[in-house]
Amino acid sequence: MSRIGVGYDLHRLIKGRPLVLGGETIEHHLGLAGHSDADVLLHALCDALLGAACLGDIGLHFPPGEERFRNISSLVLLKEVRDKLERERWQVVNTDAVITAEAPKLAPHIEAMRDNIARVLEVPRTVVSIKATTTEGLGPCGREEGIAAQAVVLLDKKPPLGPSGQETE
Ligand code: MG
Repeated sequence: MSRIGVGYDLHRLIKGRPLVLGGETIEHHLGLAGHSDADVLLHALCDALLGAACLGDIGLHFPPGEERFRNISSLVLLKEVRDKLERERWQVVNTDAVITAEAPKLAPHIEAMRDNIARVLEVPRTVVSIKATTTEGLGPCGREEGIAAQAVVLLDKKPPLGPSGQETE
């Protein structure tokens, strides 16, 4: 059984915060505002994963007011989401994402982001695709007021465990 999921996030760019995307801290004069590290790419990915498994959304699992999530790396949240899916026998087939940012240039950081996500999801990097685009100066991302990300994932349900908890194939 296969399931697809979609996720979207947008955070405001402000002074005095690091810019973290896909688990990479990127040199920039602005960073994303938020309770966690505000990593929009990983938030969109978490929502896509949870959505595909019909497990709600990131706000349900990680309420933004909770102290333990303050400035937390979203890689930790992604790991928790991955573990929730694992408990229900969901396997990530592939994921694709697009980041919308006018600046800075993200191309030099894409490979490191793919590695971070593949490591946490425990999948090969060849099934983790990340792209970046600008919006030609249009809209909030084009005016550099924020950075947005969209993600889709495909999950496959693994066979149930055998009677003594072992893999059946
Ligand atoms: Mg968010």
